[in-house]
Amino acid sequence: MEQVIEFFQRLADVNDWPPRWYCGRWTDFHGWLYIVSDLTIWLAYMAIPLILIRFLIVKKGVPLSGVFWLFGAFILLCGLTHLLDAVMFWWPAYRISALVRFLTAGVSVATVLALIRYFNDAIGLRTSSEYDRELSFRQQAMQELSRSNEELQQFAYIASHDLQSPLKTIVNYLSLLENKHSDKLDTDAQRLIDVSTAAAERMRVLINDLLDFSRVGTQLEFVQIDLNTVLAEVQEEQEADSRNTDAQIDIGPMPTLLAHRTDLKQVFQNLISNGLKYRRPGVTPRVTVRATDEGSEYLFSINDNGIGIDKQYFERVFQIFQRLHGRNEYAGTGIGLATCKKVVDIYGGKIWLDSTVGVGTTFFVTIPKVIKTSKHYAQTHTLYPAR
Ligand code: ADP
Repeated sequence: MEQVIEFFQRLADVNDWPPRWYCGRWTDFHGWLYIVSDLTIWLAYMAIPLILIRFLIVKKGVPLSGVFWLFGAFILLCGLTHLLDAVMFWWPAYRISALVRFLTAGVSVATVLALIRYFNDAIGLRTSSEYDRELSFRQQAMQELSRSNEELQQFAYIASHDLQSPLKTIVNYLSLLENKHSDKLDTDAQRLIDVSTAAAERMRVLINDLLDFSRVGTQLEFVQIDLNTVLAEVQEEQEADSRNTDAQIDIGPMPTLLAHRTDLKQVFQNLISNGLKYRRPGVTPRVTVRATDEGSEYLFSINDNGIGIDKQYFERVFQIFQRLHGRNEYAGTGIGLATCKKVVDIYGGKIWLDSTVGVGTTFFVTIPKVIKTSKHYAQTHTLYPAR
């Protein structure tokens, strides 16, 4: 113990030994060969951890980075032993040298143990060619998916488009029947015609909503869209609607996004019109729209003072054709929120809501500042930016 205490007390004391130059017989050539080689090894050993640290800083998320740090410390300490070996030709700091060697020994053993421990993990890591294979497999799967999606969309589009024409004929003939033969129609026949006309009108709205739904995300060509203009347009349309003459719509400053105009407009149109539609009797409907910059995305909130939604329906309302109210209470097709969710999902954002029954509802929407749809990812050349 005494020796240990003395060792540390006289750590930097170099009086017990002669400098290495005077220890044995050195020729200049032999001594300087030793010194220059040790200094070169030290410099190289210093450079390796620096390169490793730079690598870890630049390449964030490197797996098993703990081993890299240990390895860096090990090499740094090895370098230090060589520096001391060279320095001892003038400054015989044998105690410091022993201490550094002891630390090096400790870190070397820790590095070996870490390497053994991480060996299995490292074997499990995928090589870049394995990643490439997986990436091309995924891209193929995505291309297949977007193709079958396109076919489905095409089908929905054609089906709804083709349904419009016979529907127009039905409406026209009902109106002809009413105009031409009104004198021969009794009140019961007139009621039947009115019911049929109303049903045809509902079907027209449903087909149009389905058409909008099937069109979402079909356009890959994005342009800069100033949401201030889009929302001003939505506000004008809503205020012009005879059902919303008393509406108060308050829109805050909006950002500009590179996206598809109709897709984005539909989101706000549906959310704002719902906020006005699901009003509380006797309460002036008020909708407030705000946008906040959240770094990599924008967060939009659309708040209303309407009837509210029970917590148990927070997820269900986003499903297509899911309505919480009968047709007679509030008109609608149950497609609006599904369309919003489809746009937001395609754009890589999120949509959710918070609500209190009898107080009001707030819908939240996030949209990334840089929108990349799965269609973009399915195109190999857009994955890697051109250098
Ligand atoms: P639609 O309004 O055509 O019925 P949506 O998909 O837009 O279809 O909405 C689905 C259902 O969610 C609505 O039927 C309604 O019950 C409920 N809902 C949507 N928005 C609101 C809101 N702001 N306040 C209260 N209920 C809402």
